[in-house]
Amino acid sequence: MNFAKKKFSSLGRFEQCESEWREPDRYRDLLTMSPARKHIARGAGLSLSGASFGTDSLVTSMRRFNRILAFDRGKKSIRAEAGVSLGKLHEYLAPQGFYLPVQPGYPDITLGGCIAGNVHGKNQYREGDFAGCVQEIELFHPARGILTLTPAENTELFNLTCGGYGLTGVILSAVIGVTEFPGGRAYISNIPTTGLRDTVETLLEIRDDYDFLYSWNEMSGARSTTGFVRAGNFQNDTRGGLGPMRHKKLDPMRPVPAINLFNRLILPPLNGLYAAFIHHLKKSETVDALDVFFPFATLPSYFHAYGRNGFLEHQVLIPSDAVAGYLRAFEQVHEKFRIPLGLATFKLFRGQQKHLRFTGDGISFAFHAPHTSNLDAFMTEVDSLDVDHGAFANLIKDSRISANIARKQYPDYDSYRENLLAHDPRRLFASALSRRLNL
Ligand SMILES: Cc1cc2nc3c(=O)[nH]c(=O)nc-3n(C[C@H](O)[C@H](O)[C@H](O)COP(=O)(O)OP(=O)(O)OC[C@H]3O[C@@H](n4cnc5c(N)ncnc54)[C@H](O)[C@@H]3O)c2cc1C
Repeated sequence: MNFAKKKFSSLGRFEQCESEWREPDRYRDLLTMSPARKHIARGAGLSLSGASFGTDSLVTSMRRFNRILAFDRGKKSIRAEAGVSLGKLHEYLAPQGFYLPVQPGYPDITLGGCIAGNVHGKNQYREGDFAGCVQEIELFHPARGILTLTPAENTELFNLTCGGYGLTGVILSAVIGVTEFPGGRAYISNIPTTGLRDTVETLLEIRDDYDFLYSWNEMSGARSTTGFVRAGNFQNDTRGGLGPMRHKKLDPMRPVPAINLFNRLILPPLNGLYAAFIHHLKKSETVDALDVFFPFATLPSYFHAYGRNGFLEHQVLIPSDAVAGYLRAFEQVHEKFRIPLGLATFKLFRGQQKHLRFTGDGISFAFHAPHTSNLDAFMTEVDSLDVDHGAFANLIKDSRISANIARKQYPDYDSYRENLLAHDPRRLFASALSRRLNL
């Protein structure tokens, strides 16, 4: 059977390819998948890597499978099809006094994408990662049919599927644990910091006091000398948090300016003004809870401002005892290449690292770098310093990391591949990400 072809791109425009694709709206079509070719499921297509498309793979968009199937108030759980968006789930749950405790920052992201990417929210240290909320998955594999996976039934396949980058099959639906909605607004303190280490120390000092906690550092020049920690608590206030969801469409394929607007000339004064504004005028604020859950909902232009060459997101989890040495080494590498970084942020993490999931104990450091001519050389040195300090990269976000580096960073890399092969000897699911990482 022939399918239409379409060009796909990761959000930062780093990984792109043309693939055949389809967007079925009936189960009888969805479940007709040839076992004679490669496949990959796609949610909203908002990943920063080529996780949901690949040359020679038939891309199956799950967007039309977006129904909420059941809500059990007593058991605090919701069953929904995998293509449902976080925004739709929130609009359904919040008026009933519930919400998803772990949510990445944009409302169009789908349930399937959250499970396969094992995403985290604004307070991983307190809430953990998405896998911790998943109670059941209904998974379809062309050679194995429909399987029910829970932490107790088909446990190994459940674990491979949470944070499995869509490589175990198509998630049809899932049951997710929900939490009482803490309130419609949030009181936020923006605590000024002076540099990377000061920012991390501040986060560590106040880690137990806030519902959500993350930071911003100015890194457009050689060294970061200013930043702030954003720390907040939800307030029970019926004036906010219920929707409707205000957001602008984020489309990785949208035409964008030819040049990077976050360049050496524009970014330093822009960031300087932003830092001064926060330090002097916005030390505290009360905002709608939706602005906390989905800070990028009205800001898609931020991603497009990097221009046609796009940007890279690199996020690493650094063990707490290595963070001081890591940051010293990172500042030296950054000073050598002087690539203006559009965003640099820390979050605190807690958990057990396993398989290829981005989780564990430590401090997450993420930055956005424009695709400049010296970016490859810069990132080669960053990869080495990650490995030297026992840090590992978020594979769903970094669209250029190699199999060699992933194997060095993830102790379970080889066993993960073996387990995938045991589940699916013909390895029917593949993407640009899985090919690059040799999974
Ligand atoms: C503005 C913005 C903010 C973000 N903030 C965060 C954040 O705070 N924390 C965080 O962890 N991440 C964050 N992300 C990353 C994002 O949460 C993940 O990349 C997520 O996987 C994207 O979901 P998606 O629906 O777009 O899935 P896609 O990008 O379409 O796919 C992602 C992966 O999920 C698989 N997949 C999707 N649906 C299915 C299915 N039904 N069955 C099997 N596999 C499936 C795909 O094959 C692919 O491997 C952010 C992204 C954006 C754009």
